[in-house]
Parts: sequence; C-alpha cells; structure tokens
Amino acid sequence: MLRTSLNNPDEFTFTYELVAGRGCCGRQIEQLLEFACAAKADGRIKALSVTDNPGGSASLAPVAIGEELLKLGIEPLIHFSLKDKNRSQIVSHIYLYQRLGLRSLLVMGGDFPNSGYCGQARPVFDVDSIQTLQLMREMESGQQPGGCVLSREQPQLRLFKGCVVSPFKATEAEQVWQYVNLLRKVRAGADFIVSQLGFDLRRFEELMLFLQREQIRLPVLANVFIPSLATARAMAAGKVPGVLLAQELTAQMEQEAAAGHSRARLDRAAAMLVRLKRMGCQGVHLGGSALRFEEVSYVLDRFAQWEQASELPDVVCDFSVQNTWSFFCRRENGELTETPLQPGCKSGRAQLPAFSQHLLFSRQTWISKLFGRFCRFCAKGERRATALTLLERTVKRLLFQCRMCGDCTLSHSAFLCPQSGCPKRLTNGPCGGSRFGFCEVHPSRRCFWVRVYECLAPQTTLRSLANQPHLPPKDWALEKTSAWINFFSK
Ligand code: SF4
Repeated sequence: MLRTSLNNPDEFTFTYELVAGRGCCGRQIEQLLEFACAAKADGRIKALSVTDNPGGSASLAPVAIGEELLKLGIEPLIHFSLKDKNRSQIVSHIYLYQRLGLRSLLVMGGDFPNSGYCGQARPVFDVDSIQTLQLMREMESGQQPGGCVLSREQPQLRLFKGCVVSPFKATEAEQVWQYVNLLRKVRAGADFIVSQLGFDLRRFEELMLFLQREQIRLPVLANVFIPSLATARAMAAGKVPGVLLAQELTAQMEQEAAAGHSRARLDRAAAMLVRLKRMGCQGVHLGGSALRFEEVSYVLDRFAQWEQASELPDVVCDFSVQNTWSFFCRRENGELTETPLQPGCKSGRAQLPAFSQHLLFSRQTWISKLFGRFCRFCAKGERRATALTLLERTVKRLLFQCRMCGDCTLSHSAFLCPQSGCPKRLTNGPCGGSRFGFCEVHPSRRCFWVRVYECLAPQTTLRSLANQPHLPPKDWALEKTSAWINFFSK
C-alpha cells in the first residue's frame, strides 16, 4: 500500500506515471496494462499513477485505468486535476472513487484546457487545489458539502491525498508563491508531496531543506522523468507547462544519441535516484517517454547496485538552468543560508487603493460606517441598487479592469484583479505552469501572481503570505451584482 510504504522510514518508495491517451482501447492501453502486469510481478513499484487529461487534452478518464489496476492488484494513484471539474463534479468524483476503492489521489490544478470539440473548452478552475484538499478533509471528517445529510450506512471516507510543488522556478516571485502554496496545502491536509519533474538536483535539495526548516515531516516523492530526445527538446523549448530543462542536458542527449548510447538516460536516472535518496526523499515518482518496463527495471537494478556503494556513481545527472533564483545561497564558509526576499518593487501602486479600501471597507472609520449604511440603503430598492451597481462597475472597470464577479478579492491580490488578469482566475496564488515569470497560457504576458508579488508591501515575508487566510471558492450566485452591497449585507 502506498500509504504504508511512504510512511515507513526504512523503505524507499517507487511510483510510476502512466499516461492513458485517447480512445478506450488499442495498442497504447494494452502496453500500459502490460507495463502494470510486469510492475505487479516485479513488486518494487508501489503505485502506478494515472494522469487526468494531461496537457489539457481530453483522454481516457483515469478511473477506467484505475479500476483495471485494482483488479491487477497494484495500487492506482489517480491524478485529481481541477481544470475540468467544478465543485459539484469534484464531490461526485470523490463519491465515485470511494465506491470503487480508489483512495490515493494526487490533487493538482492541471494544465490549461487545449483545443477540443469545436474549439477550446472553457477552463473551469472553480476550486483550487488547497480548497479541494480542505473539502476532502471535511468530507473525511463526516461533513457533507452544502450541509446535506447522508444516511447512516455510508462508510467513512478515507483518502490518501497528495499535493504538488515545484522547487524549480526561475524567479523569486514564482518560487516564493510555490512554497507559500505548499505550506497552505500541508495545512489543508495533504498527506504526501510530489515534486514537479526536474533535472536540477540542487533544487531538489532546496525543497528538502525548506521542509526541514518548516518542520514538515510529510513524505516526499521526487519526480524523476526520463525523457526521450524529442521530449527533452520540447521541454527545453518551453512546450511543457512549468518544466525547465537546461540546454546542456539536451546537448548531452544529442551526443548520446549520435554515439548510440541508448541506456545513458537510464543510467542518469538511476544516478539521480541514489542522490535523491541520500538527500532524504522518501521515494521517487518515475515517469518517461514511452518506457518499457524492462527499462524501468534496469533503472531500479542500477539504483540498487549503486546505492550499496560508498561512492556516488560517476554519472553526470545534475543540470541546472542558468540565471535562476535560488531560495538558499551558499556563504563563503560553505554554509547554506536563505536568500533575502525582495517583494514589493512596485509596492507604491497598491498604496492608494489600500488606503481607500481601509477608508471605505474597514467598518472602523466613520466613512466606512456611513458608506455601509448607504450601500444597505441602496440594496433595499431595485433602482438604487442598479444605479450603485452601475457606478461600481464604471469605477472598478476603469481602475482595475473589474469583471463584476460580485465577490471582490482585490485586496488579497495587491489590487490587481485575478478575474481579468489570470487566465485560470486563481484568487489565492499562482498555478505551477509559469516559466521564467511568464504565464503558462499567454507566454508573452507576465504571470499575474508575479505582478502581484511586485506590488506587495516590501516587508511581506513568506510566512506572512502563507498565514493569510485562504479565500474560499467564489459564490457564483453573486456574479454581476454589486460587491459593495454584498460586502455590507453580510
Ligand atoms: S497568470 Fe500565472 S497563475 Fe494565472 S494561469 Fe498564468 S501562469 Fe498560471
């Protein structure tokens, strides 16, 4: 069982990622099930994860493969991505997985939807991964969403919930947000952590140091991906959201391909495994481009052989991307220390709106009290309410490009509007898809949350960000109504 294996300090856990692809049957699915049979017979891989519409493209739902894996006797780890699910779908999927006995879920936002039937699907992202973890925890404690009551014979829900984090971000803002979100995910009830895939061992080490600093003892699965040359080229060119791959690694793989060293990438992965185990990771989440089980088995054999040796294997497996920010820096005496944070290089932009916010919405100033009475007075008459809504729309559209969601969160994002600024409309922090500070969806635009970081107060710390209350999902019944009236009517 994955839970038992990950929580056993004497065990180093292996999981492997399966990608089902399109269609309900065919060669790809047969190969995937052959892989699962071989993994079961081998016994070293403790769970097989199944992707959920990877790359934002519609593919076979992970539950189909999950059921097959259960029948084969190997534990499925279902990717639970939120790009295509609203809160009702999330709850119904939880019930479905409970019924089928699929307990291990890896909760993540997921890639932006790709082009599909008659164009691109509308992205959902109704609930973020932290809110989903909170919802799952509430359901595990017996509470049902919306206060509904279930019959007594319902079994208690028990999930094993994973969360994801990227330690590989290139800029300070992106990396700080990743760790802020990680702290929130842990608080929201995550049971284990899976990293983004990467090839920079120093960054894996930073993640482990960060967890140590925060006294987080959740098991970590480091994501080791074994790319083909074509995939490595795509990753280096930025075609895989959130993934950075150094040009040096592509160059090395080109040389290996020219020399016919087909096993070099497997040796590199095995060498990474040895180093990751020595860093304190509890296991490794393996993946790769069209790998056969024999190849994965070769990696695990090599790892077992090298792990026993006193010296590290003589294989270069650490590839840092140049000019990236690091959370820890090394002093002259060799000691690692935290890099001082520098948020708020444009903090002046948020000062006037923050002052106005305090004046009008703090409920403490006489102006705020008066404004509140005025809003409640307007709420009582249809025409007055319409006039106030029109005024609010004009002012906020002009100043903040407001979309009138009716449930305003401007003050939580340095007075930049996530409804118009972030394509995933995330209200609590960024996704993991940005690259070098630019947005996953619109690579020519800077990530909305990087811009927010620049507008924060300069004294903001990682901890103060992490301790900010996590906003609940939006109430879409309020859309197009006045957020001013809604605020003062609570
Ligand atoms: S703006 Fe940032 S958080 Fe929003 S979708 Fe783009 S990369 Fe993700």
